[in-house]
Amino acid sequence: MKILVINAGSSSLKYQLINMEDESVIAKGNCDRIGIDGHIKHTTFDGRTVDTDCKFPTHTEAFEKLVEVLTTGDASVLSSMSEISAVGHRIVQGAEIFNKTTLVTDEVIQQIDDLSELAPVHNHPHALALRACKKVIPETTPQVAVFDTAFHQTMPEKAYMFGMPYECYEKFHVRKYGFHGTSHRFVTQALADAMGRDIKDLKIVSCHLGNGSSITAVEGGKSIDTSMGFTPLDGVIMGTRSGCVDASAVTFVASKLGLSPSEMSDYLNKRSGFLGISGISSDNRDITAAANDGDRRAQLVGEMLRYEIKKYIGSYAAIMNGLDAVLFTGGIGENSDDLRADVCRNMEYLGIKMNEKVNEGMRGKLCKISAPDSKVEVWVVPTNEELLIARDTKELVENM
Ligand code: AMP
Repeated sequence: MKILVINAGSSSLKYQLINMEDESVIAKGNCDRIGIDGHIKHTTFDGRTVDTDCKFPTHTEAFEKLVEVLTTGDASVLSSMSEISAVGHRIVQGAEIFNKTTLVTDEVIQQIDDLSELAPVHNHPHALALRACKKVIPETTPQVAVFDTAFHQTMPEKAYMFGMPYECYEKFHVRKYGFHGTSHRFVTQALADAMGRDIKDLKIVSCHLGNGSSITAVEGGKSIDTSMGFTPLDGVIMGTRSGCVDASAVTFVASKLGLSPSEMSDYLNKRSGFLGISGISSDNRDITAAANDGDRRAQLVGEMLRYEIKKYIGSYAAIMNGLDAVLFTGGIGENSDDLRADVCRNMEYLGIKMNEKVNEGMRGKLCKISAPDSKVEVWVVPTNEELLIARDTKELVENM
């Protein structure tokens, strides 16, 4: 069975074609600059490539090009699109409507589009891509939607409600939704498998740390709290996002700078975080290099990030009445050994003891990095959201 996984943005369409027999990637790539001009970069499992400028006025032309490179030319991997059993789409916001992976119908596409108000950057482009895909892919090929928010729909009311007037929830659907759910679900299950334990018996803090970061308390395989909130702005400090800020500071700064709500949203989402504090970069590698060169504000970014992660681990251990494992994933979590060591230092009271030697230099590999006698295990678990989307899609179409 071959599954095509699509991750569509407003100007891009990332894809992976996965062979479900051995879960290997047959081809992957990105149709970029949609609505601007257009470019496709396509690579096959055996190293054949297409790297060319195109015309992508809309997502439809990008899908047409994708079909063309998959089925014709030097880098083709399919004789026809009918070889694909299903298409799985990553969808950011499913709100309270979608608490699980769902077969795409016209009504579902409309519901995803209607949720755009809650995820303006993501959901409308997802709907455009779903409609374009329907036009281009054979009608008999099922399309499946996998939601970033679905995993967090198990959070209890006391965790997802904000202390604002209840009408904010009733009328405007303002609550914590949480994001990165596909990643948290994938890595916590992969961790349970690696530990040889049933996930139902585990209390895990899952730290997905990348350009966007979120930390989730997973008890018995279910998300019970998470650091991102109504939007992916909340939680720990991120590349360009502020993370958690007192809402009064937001209204105060908006009035001082004369910013409209949408300008203030840009200020917090695009000009804050690592970039806003350091004034140097949103990228962790640049920040680390500047910090090592003695830049005080870059050092401060690192200190804030480590401190905030530590606080989440402690508070999530408290709400779960204990902890079996902490895992690190995402670009920073998988690669930054010094951050992992700093976060887990002085956590003996919680039962965390690192194996500093194993941790040092460990990058992007599934690996236990805690000491053999650590009560709480600490792991690096590489994430693979595309694979989870493909697995979910396979399961759903097999049970149709
Ligand atoms: P992601 O959004 O998961 O792709 O993660 C992107 C972040 O991971 C960026 O801030 C990168 O600087 C960071 N990152 C990637 N590779 C490394 C590395 N080798 N060491 C430290 N940080 C890294």
